[in-house]
Amino acid sequence: MLDRYGRNITYLRLSVTELCNLRCRYCMPEDGVCKKPHEDMLTEEEIVLAVETAAELGVNKLRITGGEPLVKKNIVSICERSAAVPGIREVCVTTNGVLLPTLAKPLREAGVRRLNISLDTLDAEKYRYITRLGSLDDALRGIETALDADYEKIKLNAVLVGGFNDDEIAPLAELTRRWPVDLRFIELMPMLDSPAFGPEAFIPCERVLQTLPELKREEDDGGVAKLYRLPGAQGRIGLISPLSSHFCRECNRIRLTADGKLKPCLHGKAEFPIKGLDRDAMREQFRAAMLAKPEWHGELSFSSHSQAGRGMNTIGG
Ligand code: SAM
Ligand code: SF4
Repeated sequence: MLDRYGRNITYLRLSVTELCNLRCRYCMPEDGVCKKPHEDMLTEEEIVLAVETAAELGVNKLRITGGEPLVKKNIVSICERSAAVPGIREVCVTTNGVLLPTLAKPLREAGVRRLNISLDTLDAEKYRYITRLGSLDDALRGIETALDADYEKIKLNAVLVGGFNDDEIAPLAELTRRWPVDLRFIELMPMLDSPAFGPEAFIPCERVLQTLPELKREEDDGGVAKLYRLPGAQGRIGLISPLSSHFCRECNRIRLTADGKLKPCLHGKAEFPIKGLDRDAMREQFRAAMLAKPEWHGELSFSSHSQAGRGMNTIGG
């Protein structure tokens, strides 16, 4: 369906849980999120109904995210049922990778075609620091299991944090020579009012180009990343710059949170509840949310925080 600015909304980002087995410093408070009552969250039936409704309105791509989607007990069933919805051409999952050693194969068999796996550092101590709980070994084992599970595409996502991993741009980029994966650097977004991140933490993706002058520009694939390649690499390097150059003009996305709120814009306050609605009422809310997409999300910088009113773990990125 077209929104008021002529953008065709074809991509639903579906968060299936706010919970996570990690506590990344840029995403979640240290003590996690207060667990909302079970009855406030979408059921599997409601999730499938939402996917069907979105598909009727022209959505053909689904990204399942969280929180950590793989901690959700019925994640394989949700993926399988969503992939079977007529009109849905592609189901992708974004994960921190820690549970992929057991779930990479079942998810692939359920019809998931692509995975995005988050990996901000290759240093075990720094991994533990940024995730507060995680083990780099688990994440690397997850990536390797996924590489053996015949996915159509695997992308690694690294959030660029000045003073943390700006000294690892080259080794992270080298992963595209070692494995057939794309590696995307993402600018840190000011979601939380966190004292951990001063102005020096917000570095533009331009820094990647300065660090790796050998990068060759590649044709973009219609996504939000500007694409490059290291000479001889199997995969590409993507630069995602929500701060230094936003991509609102081409935004084809709508988001659904695990507690059943449609968000027309990642950084906007507007939310349209769908919990408990029947098919017709849900369709009206989807339409309303698509028509409420703003032209752009307004100023976003270290000093102008996102107006999302939620942490990233409760939206899904
Ligand atoms: N738990 C999964 C994961 O980490 O991949 C999926 C959910 S997570 C919220 C989705 C993506 O958002 C991850 O790649 C994460 O690095 C990114 N993210 C979280 N907070 C962010 C922030 N403040 N700025 C930029 N990216 C962020
Ligand atoms: Fe969890 Fe993903 Fe947020 Fe990290 S970025 S705390 S893994 S939801």
